[in-house]
Amino acid sequence: LVSRQNHDSRTVVSVAGVPIGGDSVTLIAGPCAVETPDQTMEAARMAQAAGAALLRGGAFKPRSSPYAFQGLGEVGLKILADVRAETGLPIVTEVVDAADVDLVASYADMLQVGTRNMQNFALLQAVGAAGKPVMLKRGMSATIEEWLMAAEYIAQRGNLDIVLCERGIRTYEKATRNTLDISAVPVAQNLTHLPVIVDPSHSGGKRDLVLPLSRAAVAVGADGVIIDVHPHPETALCDGPQALVGSDLAELADLMDTLPALL
Ligand code: PEP
Repeated sequence: LVSRQNHDSRTVVSVAGVPIGGDSVTLIAGPCAVETPDQTMEAARMAQAAGAALLRGGAFKPRSSPYAFQGLGEVGLKILADVRAETGLPIVTEVVDAADVDLVASYADMLQVGTRNMQNFALLQAVGAAGKPVMLKRGMSATIEEWLMAAEYIAQRGNLDIVLCERGIRTYEKATRNTLDISAVPVAQNLTHLPVIVDPSHSGGKRDLVLPLSRAAVAVGADGVIIDVHPHPETALCDGPQALVGSDLAELADLMDTLPALL
């Protein structure tokens, strides 16, 4: 179902009217985690200033450590809905557990399946049946074929509104959190008709790498990038070191404006 064979054209996924795929490069930005109404609103304003068409933000956080901040749950979803009402930005947010799919789908414009859940087949089937577009992150140890097969689980439930997100894979290299597999973008685009975007924030794990990796993503033909921003990363409850701050936004906006046009 997700294979490029038998598909003459590439799929453009519409998220509440915002296209991902086709000729444009879509910027999705926002806080890694929803922490407070003010922090989420400030991050959304930052995202909008940089040209983001969609707001990201985690209310259910899949943390490697059980002692780390796990997200605000439904309280966080309500904050996202309030920020959407104020800014007009549709929401992309993660669902971690199949049992929460209906709840998260009742707030979200796009459901995110994270790297740690890429092969949670019950979750994939549940999001496939939820009637909302899905962003499927690549498992950090998954091959491209396994990633596409995970997308197939979603598609099998009748949902072809799937966006693939390359977010770095686990290698021996310790200089970055994960290694952005930039070649996965054209490789996947050759194999599937689905849009492919890149997460330079979670792959590099460092603020200074976000813009260079975004440039690489756009240059290689990614259909979008998803980027963490935070008004006060030094106090962030999740992944502060990778979040862009206000002073980075002009450069990000410029990149999003100029680079796609040059390609
Ligand atoms: C996220 O985008 O919030 C996230 C946790 O990303 P990943 O699943 O890629 O680690």
